[in-house]
Amino acid sequence: MKNSFQEKSKDAKIVALTEEIGRLKNKIENLEQNSSDLEIALETAVEHGDAVEDQLNSLNDKLLGEIKERVVAQRRLEKLIQAINQQKNDLELVVETITQHSDDLDNEWFLHLIEMEKQVKIDALTGIQNRRAMDEVLEKEFSRCKKMKKSLGFLMVDIDYFKQFNDQLGHQKGDECLKEIANIIHTTVEGTSDVVARYGGEEFAVILPESDHNRCKKVASDILEAITQNSLFHPKSPHGIITASIGIASMFPDNTSSVAEIIAQADKCLYSAKRSGRNKIMDE
Ligand code: GH3
Ligand code: MG
Ligand code: MG
Repeated sequence: MKNSFQEKSKDAKIVALTEEIGRLKNKIENLEQNSSDLEIALETAVEHGDAVEDQLNSLNDKLLGEIKERVVAQRRLEKLIQAINQQKNDLELVVETITQHSDDLDNEWFLHLIEMEKQVKIDALTGIQNRRAMDEVLEKEFSRCKKMKKSLGFLMVDIDYFKQFNDQLGHQKGDECLKEIANIIHTTVEGTSDVVARYGGEEFAVILPESDHNRCKKVASDILEAITQNSLFHPKSPHGIITASIGIASMFPDNTSSVAEIIAQADKCLYSAKRSGRNKIMDE
């Protein structure tokens, strides 16, 4: 037989168990609720997951595209920088070479320029000064003699019967003759500031700075003598040799006179020498 104590304990257990069952029921209900929430959440996640994945994929594609573009752009930039660096190096080399050789180049150019200037004033056939040089020197000496109040002399020398010489012996012999006459006159005229030039054709000019009329006559007669002394054969000349005629001009240049005047004067005298038989010197 059970006593009352045992009866009470049995009831308490039943109560405790009932309570426990109630709690478990609640838990199960809660779990059921939670699991349905989870299911909903999972369903939603699955539903949205596709869209999110699509978005992620397209974002990914976009990023990949951008990365590719960046890589290409970077490669291009690198090539550009490489090309610029190469050009910079080349340029530095050129500048260095120019700097290293600039002195040589300057000197070369300077010598070249001097040579060119010389050539411009030289008569190609005879090697003496040409008409351009003569004009320059005459202008310069005219001014100088004017300033110093000195006499300026000018001679015009013209080979006699030269056309016939050419006609008889040919142009090449004519050229040789011109060279010889130029050389004869050049060697005869010795003054340091005297200038012998080819005026044109078979005519030569002699500038005699600081020379009075007597010196001009002396130089002219020395030239004529030197030409005859050389006895260059001329088949049609009355003397059988090359002769020349000379016109002399001398003046004290001043404000009323000019270079053209001294040339005209010498030319006029030359014409007189020709008219009076050639192989002559004429002055005013
Ligand atoms: P004149 O006694 O009056 O001075 O007569 P000329 O025959 O010497 O003079 P003209 O003016 O009649 O003829 C000059 C000649 O000079 C004609 C031309 O062919 C020649 N001549 C001019 N320049 C040259 C040249 O560079 N070479 C040669 N070979 N002949 C030239
Ligand atoms: Mg002439
Ligand atoms: Mg002549």
